[in-house]
Amino acid sequence: MAWNRTGSILGSGTSAEYEADVIFTAAFVGLAADFARKNKPWRVAMEPEMTLKPVSGDQRPARTTDDRKAMEKHNQLCTRVNQAVRNYLTADNAKPLTWGFTPSFAAGGMIAGGPAASQLDLTLDAAFKQFARKYLTNAKTPTNRTDVGDMYIGRGAYCGLVLDEQGDAVSAMSTVRTTIKENSQLYPAPLNGQVGDRWCPPSTSPKYGEDSTSAQTAPVNKSWIWGMIGDKAAMQQDLQNQGMKFYMGSDNRKGTDLVGYTHGLPRAVYECVRAHKGHPYEMSIGAQTFKLASCMGCTFFMIANGFEPSASHVGRSESWAPLYHVQGNNPSPVLAPIDKDHDQIAAFELANNRWSDAVAGWIKEGIAALDLLIADGWITDNHKPALAALKIKVADTNQTTPAKRRICCNLLLDAFTWHKGDADRVNDTMKIGARPKPGCDGTKLWWDTDTTTRPDTFLNPYTDDQLKKLGDLNQLSL
Ligand SMILES: [Zn+2]
Repeated sequence: MAWNRTGSILGSGTSAEYEADVIFTAAFVGLAADFARKNKPWRVAMEPEMTLKPVSGDQRPARTTDDRKAMEKHNQLCTRVNQAVRNYLTADNAKPLTWGFTPSFAAGGMIAGGPAASQLDLTLDAAFKQFARKYLTNAKTPTNRTDVGDMYIGRGAYCGLVLDEQGDAVSAMSTVRTTIKENSQLYPAPLNGQVGDRWCPPSTSPKYGEDSTSAQTAPVNKSWIWGMIGDKAAMQQDLQNQGMKFYMGSDNRKGTDLVGYTHGLPRAVYECVRAHKGHPYEMSIGAQTFKLASCMGCTFFMIANGFEPSASHVGRSESWAPLYHVQGNNPSPVLAPIDKDHDQIAAFELANNRWSDAVAGWIKEGIAALDLLIADGWITDNHKPALAALKIKVADTNQTTPAKRRICCNLLLDAFTWHKGDADRVNDTMKIGARPKPGCDGTKLWWDTDTTTRPDTFLNPYTDDQLKKLGDLNQLSL
């Protein structure tokens, strides 16, 4: 098999967007079924709106209006997913998917990977965490951000940290961008075989972003290749200036290569897998995104590797990808002795395989659950052809070759290259149909009752003044 260079992920005859919707929905429903079967509750986190609005006077009501729309979206998601899971498991009261607010942001606050990390986090001194954040974000100009270990601090910036048993940070790694190529020997074996088959639409697709005409832009960032975050190639230079490291990108070819982004927390997970110890965390260090919750790309990867994140969100996982190389990796000799690249590559291979096998299981179960709902009208008509095509596609998956083993997880990665909110993907794929399970008729509030703030009395928790101070987090105390 070679890479799919058509305009369609599944060849279903419908749009790539619907195909991406269905792929993500299958994986998400499959994971929800997995949790419910294990009698584990699952709660997704919503971040209250933190962007200042272009209205005069008090802006809080405008943010509250946006929050209420987001609440509705989260509630719809839970209704649909709970119907799919309860119907599939024939368990009317199976532990439901619920939603609530993201853990409150505070400078130096962290997402923990796994219950042991959450326990350790409780023992850490908040002042030390704020100090760590200050240290990680200190350098602010391109010229002094060129050393290995420097951190990306732009939009959506999070820094993965590995802490040892004493709670000391022994490694830090932020988001990296990698150019992914077909049959490339750029990546070390056996990780090169794990790349497998991907979808890279032809360069004539109208969804491609703008190439750069600016003389200021480095040649590597002249052309917009599939998966790039931001709709202009020129924006890549900004990401680099903000400290994001780019790998394998010296000859990006439009319509041939694509890019993927590996977030800090999975990078910390790789290191914990290598060392057989340590605790992975992620600290928010940007000035625009603060939610202390993992994206679904990271969530799937972390659960597959036994490090369930302390909170997850159903916002965007734009061009999320695992790593196929160890360049820029920051293993800790304090945590475990380093055997050149060998033990890192072995750890990456293991973690990637665990993830690919878990995703295959979730997608297959998700398809089965969605299939059962077609007759009762729970799948939107425009998404049915994509669901049928997905079912055929995954039938061929098995563990005999790296490419076949990675059919499901690579379809999920392909879906992530179609940039869209993850809750929207599910809500567009499914609608309320006949024979709803208890609570799934669209009237129930799937609000996590652990917290006291009810949506009906909800007011955006951030004052205008607090948000104005977000640029300098040291002034902020929430
Ligand atoms: Zn993530």
